Formats: sequence, structure tokens, C-alpha cells
Amino acid sequence: MPDPLASRDEEVPALEYALEAARRYLEELDEARVLPARGERFGGPLPADGDGALAALAELVAGSDIATRSSGPRFFHFVIGGTTPAALGADWLTALFDQNSFSPTSSPFGTQLEEVAVRWLLELFELPADWGGVLTSGATTANFVGLASARRWWAEQHGVDVDERGFAGLPAVPVFSSGYIHASARKALAMLGLGRETVRLVEGDALESALRGLGGAPAIVIGNAGDVNTGDFDPLAHWADLAGEHNAWLHVDGAFGLFARLTPKAVGLVEGVERAHSVIADGHKWLNVPYDCGFAFVREQQYLRPPFRLAAAYLPSDELPGPEASRRARALAVWATLRAYGRAGYRAMVERHLELAMRLSERVDAELELERLAETKLNLVCFRVHPRGLSDEELDELNRALGRDVLEDGRVFVGTTVHNGKVAFRPAIVNWRTTERDVDLLVEVLLELAARRLGVRA
Ligand SMILES: *Cc1c(COP(=O)(O)O)cnc(C)c1O
Repeated sequence: MPDPLASRDEEVPALEYALEAARRYLEELDEARVLPARGERFGGPLPADGDGALAALAELVAGSDIATRSSGPRFFHFVIGGTTPAALGADWLTALFDQNSFSPTSSPFGTQLEEVAVRWLLELFELPADWGGVLTSGATTANFVGLASARRWWAEQHGVDVDERGFAGLPAVPVFSSGYIHASARKALAMLGLGRETVRLVEGDALESALRGLGGAPAIVIGNAGDVNTGDFDPLAHWADLAGEHNAWLHVDGAFGLFARLTPKAVGLVEGVERAHSVIADGHKWLNVPYDCGFAFVREQQYLRPPFRLAAAYLPSDELPGPEASRRARALAVWATLRAYGRAGYRAMVERHLELAMRLSERVDAELELERLAETKLNLVCFRVHPRGLSDEELDELNRALGRDVLEDGRVFVGTTVHNGKVAFRPAIVNWRTTERDVDLLVEVLLELAARRLGVRA
């Protein structure tokens, strides 16, 4: 009967087995169908007696034919990055070392690496070096951290320590953003007790009059660097000016758009972000580290940690680095990938992705049956299949059906959205493996599936 101690001689063989499985997986990843198979693979009752590590791993690998090849080069949906070789290796080591990175007492290794990783990320994004930062599980939790800091600042303006006292007696929190606001920022507002529906959406110059209308009362503004349908940006430099003039905290969601900072070709889109009060981005998107990883940066550190205080007699300090207590040392992968490729490596990757997005955008424009629906600002291309002679409703129906066909087909993975009331595709290019072949294949597959569905080839 295997228990972990009795079968400890399986330890190294288990890792060797994983390495062999990785070798095969990676060899096939560039050409693999994105969803190789579907169906139920795992089930049955809890084993009364286990079969040991090797048998368990073999079953896991056998069932991984239903694993989405989302770290491959042809996964264009959502905004999902891959895993650089350095990040993947470091992530394996993260499990090996198994550090609890909540404090220097539990892991000097993890916390030192996190400090350096945060400092390097601030440098990478050209944000002021004296800002504070923390690694999170993703952009949603990073939005939560930035907006928790904003909430603390806002209540302090009213003379209240909201993290100790709560909201009792305080007015509603004025929160402004644009139509580009991501659902995760609303979710963070909900988790913070501010409410999803609190956000007032402003268009054009409306932010200025809205803030002026508050007569100097503090407010929170959520700026968006990278809309998920189009890759477009709010006018952050202008909003930073307005925040300065009208006593507002500017929080910027740059989950993927913050990476525009890495190249002079796109940096203009995010100008002014260095004047925000909190800024967030994702690691598991364009940095290409494995799930899960995001970053939150906060200008004034006095707002970053107090919301996450956790005091107990047995703990070394009540200062915790974020919403978690026990936490994975996700800094290892971030540190390793930045150490491996540096500023130049990341700039080259981002510029390649912008060129690929431009190539895709031009292919779309050149095809009579494709219609681009938004300007290509960054790494997302928003378009739809548009054969002649169909009504808008028929086009929506066709594109929705093609969205299902393309997943069924499996050669590329791209999903639909609704942009300005039209069903559209919005492939995002963020994976270090993606090349021209993959982008070209996306166009070919969509045209082929459209032709099949319409029964004619134009
Ligand atoms: C992906 C994304 C998020 C949410 O990120 P998670 O890592 O999934 O939590 C938030 N904002 C924007 C703009 C995004 O693209």
C-alpha cells in the first residue's frame, strides 16, 4: 500500500517521467490542434488504495489530450500568453523549493526575489523606482490591490481608516471610468464593497466636468490601457492631469496594454501612466510566465500594505504583501524570465507581436470577405467575416456560428465578442511562439470555414 513515505523511491522517477512528458508535449506544441480531444477523462470514486506516483502521473498525462494547447502559438482567444523556457524551468523549481512567500521569515529566498522582480518590472515599464509593488494571482487581484489602496486613500481624505473601521458613516464613493473598463475592475469594486454599478462611465471630455462637479471631494478614476475588444487606450496623460487638478486617485488597468511601454512604436499610447497612483498588469499574458501571475504597483506605499494587514501572535509581522497570506513564490518565474531575456528580449517580442497584428490587420483589409471593425492600435485585431449581401443579423449569426466552427476545427483558437453591437473576432497576439505562419493560418482557416458554411467560395 503506497503512502508517500513508503514509496519515496518514486520521487526522482516521477520527475523524470514529467520531463519525458514535457519533451513530447513541447515537440508537438507548435503544430498541435489547440483542442486535440474532448470528453470525460477522469472519474470514479476516491481510490481506497493508491497506485503510486508513476501510475497517477501516467493517467494524468494520458488524459491530457483534452488539455487546451493554450501555451502554443495558435491560441488567439482571450489574451493568453505562453511560457518562456526560462519561466517554465523556474516554475518547476518553484514547486521544487515550495516556498511560502508571505514573509522574509518564511522565505528570504522568495521575498528577495519578489522585491527584485517588482523593481525590475518597474524599470521595464518605466515607472518610478520608488513605487511599491506586489505580485498577485492575476489582473483581477491586482485591480483589487490597486483599488483597495485607492479606497484607503479616499477614506483617509474623509478622515477615516476604512480598513479598520469600515464604511459606516461615509458617503458613496465616486468612481469614474470609460466604456473600456474591464469586468474584473468592476468585480474588484464589488469585492471592496464599492459595488459593480458604482462606476459612472464618461465619454469624451465628460470626466473633467464630472470631477469638477464634485467640488474637490475625493474620487477614484479607473483608466484603461488596452481595451479587450480593440486594444485601445483611454487618454491617460489627460486623465492624470485631471486627477491632479481635482483630487482624484487614478488607477490604471494595463493588464496587457502596459507592455506598450516597452517599445517606442507604442509608448505614446500609455503616456502619463507614470503619473497614475496605482497601475496593474498581468504576468501570465504578455510577460509569458505560467499561470498564475499579475502585478500591482502603487505610488505611495503607505496605501499598499495596510488594507492587507494580518496580525496574530505567531506571525512575524502584520505587514503582508497582498490579499493572500500563504502564497506561491511566483517571483521565481518573473525573475528568471527577465534575467534570461532582459529589456531587449522583451522589446523584440512585443515589437514582433505588433508587426504580426499589423500583418493580420492588412490581411483582413485585403480579403473581400473580411471586414475590420476597429483600428489596430496594439496587438488585437477586431474584425468579422462579411460576405456580400447579408444583413447585420445574418452576419452576427454567421460569425457566431464560425466562432463555434473554428473551435471544432481546432487548428487555431479564436473567439467572438460583440463590438459596437456586431459579433466580431478579436484575436490577441501575446505568445512568444507565434509567427507569421500562425497568423496567416488564422485567416485561412476562417475563410475556409466561412466558405464551407456558405457553400460557395467567392
Ligand atoms: C485579462 C484582463 C483582466 C483580468 O485578468 P486576470 O489575469 O484574468 O485576472 C483585467 N483587465 C484587462 C484589461 C484584461 O485584459
